[in-house]
Amino acid sequence: MQYLPNEQRYQSMEYRRCGNSGLKLPAISLGLWHNFGHIDVLDNARNILRVAFDNGITHFDLANNYGPPAGSAEENFGKIFKDDFTAYRDELIISTKAGWGMWPGPYGDWGSKKYLVASLDQSLKRMGLDYVDIFYHHRPDPETPLEETMTTLDLMVRQGKALYVGISSYLPEEAAQAIEILKQLGTPCLIHQPKYSMFDRWVEGGLLDVLDQNGVGCIPFSPLAQGLLTNKYLKGIPQGSRASSNRGNGAIEEDHVSDEKIDKVRQLNVLAEQRGQNLAQMALAWILKDKRISSVLIGVSKPSQVLDSIRCLENYSFTEAELTQINEILK
Ligand code: NDP
Repeated sequence: MQYLPNEQRYQSMEYRRCGNSGLKLPAISLGLWHNFGHIDVLDNARNILRVAFDNGITHFDLANNYGPPAGSAEENFGKIFKDDFTAYRDELIISTKAGWGMWPGPYGDWGSKKYLVASLDQSLKRMGLDYVDIFYHHRPDPETPLEETMTTLDLMVRQGKALYVGISSYLPEEAAQAIEILKQLGTPCLIHQPKYSMFDRWVEGGLLDVLDQNGVGCIPFSPLAQGLLTNKYLKGIPQGSRASSNRGNGAIEEDHVSDEKIDKVRQLNVLAEQRGQNLAQMALAWILKDKRISSVLIGVSKPSQVLDSIRCLENYSFTEAELTQINEILK
């Protein structure tokens, strides 16, 4: 059936300015790392994207290697985009990335110009797009000169294949250097995509300050620690959950759901209930309380999780006592 988006879609979402740029991002963005590959159900993927857009989520985040198999999330997104979203291209921020292993040989990984240029061309073809809104270098490359990688990002913008560029998983020092090179090239770094959740707080050790000082946005990934920071694993590992699925490609596995983690999750869950939220909502709210965060990048396996998670926006302020209690639990 033809998709007609909800006319009220911009009524309740909050849009935050991304660093010092002209671009605003929805406080909640949707990532397609898992649940959009050829091993997944296309109609479910379609329904997730529709529900997200219907609720003001204007940003979809991809990468060359999302699937599995690698490339299939972009292919499936391309199919759905063609059917449902072509008319709404100018209402969407679509990102992709390259930097992890994608094809065999020396030119299908890391950060060379040879790899990144070919990869973005492939991504555009798979998605059926003329350009992406944001292209990221997916992880730092210790061997390729940073100048080469950043000059390639600048080139992509000048060629019109990307409107903005970003970096992912760069440490504070590496990020500062990349930001400086891009500035000199005249293509400012729009955004950094780091891993950040209550269980992984490394960005608080300098990265957020570097980004803030340089007017660069921040969009954390895996804010629910791949589902751990929800109430789903409190009674064991449910069938169909990500930890039960052996998806590979970095997905959470059964032995990551440890007793020690679940003990903390249980305590956090009590606090969330006292705040009138569920744990997923509290974990997302806890990230969005910081104004330096441009958007939080969620993943979902079903449309109902979009609707559930989005409700974190109803309350993302915390009392000092709540923050102290969270720090105590996480210690
Ligand atoms: P999350 O930490 O949000 O984990 C998503 C999983 O949590 C879902 O698949 C689902 O698990 C569970 N979940 C989500 N919402 C709810 C809810 N309301 N209630 C209960 N369970 C819920 O994020 P991801 O790890 O998926 O990462 C998000 C995005 O970040 C990716 O899609 C990608 O775009 C980006 N990313 C970027 C990386 C990078 O290197 N730059 C690396 C990794 C991710 P279940 O499937 O069990 O239902």
